[in-house]
Amino acid sequence: MGKIVIFYKYVAIEQPELVKQWHIELCNSLELKGRIIIAHEGINATLGGTDNAIDEYILSINKHPLFSGIDFKISVGDNRHFPRLKIMVKKEIVNLGIDPSLISAQDAGTHLSPEQVHNLLTSQPENLVILDARNSFESKVGHFQGAILPEINYFRELPSYIDENLSNFENKQVLMYCTAGVRCERASAYLKHKGITQVYQLEGGIQRYVEEFPNGFFKGKNYVFDSRRTIAISSDILSTCDICATACDYYTNCMRASCNKHYISCQKCIDKLENMCSDKCHYAVHVNKEKKRPQFITQHIHQDSTCTL
Ligand SMILES: [Zn+2]
Ligand SMILES: [Zn+2]
Repeated sequence: MGKIVIFYKYVAIEQPELVKQWHIELCNSLELKGRIIIAHEGINATLGGTDNAIDEYILSINKHPLFSGIDFKISVGDNRHFPRLKIMVKKEIVNLGIDPSLISAQDAGTHLSPEQVHNLLTSQPENLVILDARNSFESKVGHFQGAILPEINYFRELPSYIDENLSNFENKQVLMYCTAGVRCERASAYLKHKGITQVYQLEGGIQRYVEEFPNGFFKGKNYVFDSRRTIAISSDILSTCDICATACDYYTNCMRASCNKHYISCQKCIDKLENMCSDKCHYAVHVNKEKKRPQFITQHIHQDSTCTL
């Protein structure tokens, strides 16, 4: 097994296309797979490869004039956790759906280290609100105790959620977190833009926090955007099977090709419905002989893979 590296940096990139070309050559020569999003506002990446390849990659990035000082987060895995190498130039490095010139990472909330966050959560100030900035399919299998979990399927839905629930955040200290930090940079700027003054974000996200405090305030599983799907942090099971409602946090995708729904299912229901999400999909495949999707493990990635972190 090799490594999976995730990182981001908000930095002005004048020619994203050139950075893309540079990455294509570098990643192909090292046989890395994963996703890189490059924009005028910065870079956001998740890549898997052998130990040596990831080390080489990090050395090259550190030497690049635009990309010094990056906090690389490493976990166990390799390029088999990704279907391909996908390098894209986009308007934003995570899709908040707002032009970066209007909501910029430069106006982000105050960064708190995992230790500072742990101390804050231990002291439990009365006016503290914890906001999970991720999608609900991520937060429902693992989250910080007491956090608000917005019912959203895409990161770009978070601004409307904030608009509709602004009174929950007014005159409060708001602590925001996501998987590795990138989403909070502009989401916290959005909260500030809405007039919330005390906005904090967990530096390095859940990943850095659980490295330092594996038995801390984060419970359940950390959702990741590769074929590992989730990484167990504590033994708590926080969600239920979408079919029979027993305690379960195992994600799979419906085998009916035209459905491919990302859902939580216990083994019993997987066996009973042959890995399909409903009687309807089971019927469509068995009676109507509709196509099944390929078995490849990375089919399990949720379509909002542009979140990356
Ligand atoms: Zn079940
Ligand atoms: Zn289905």
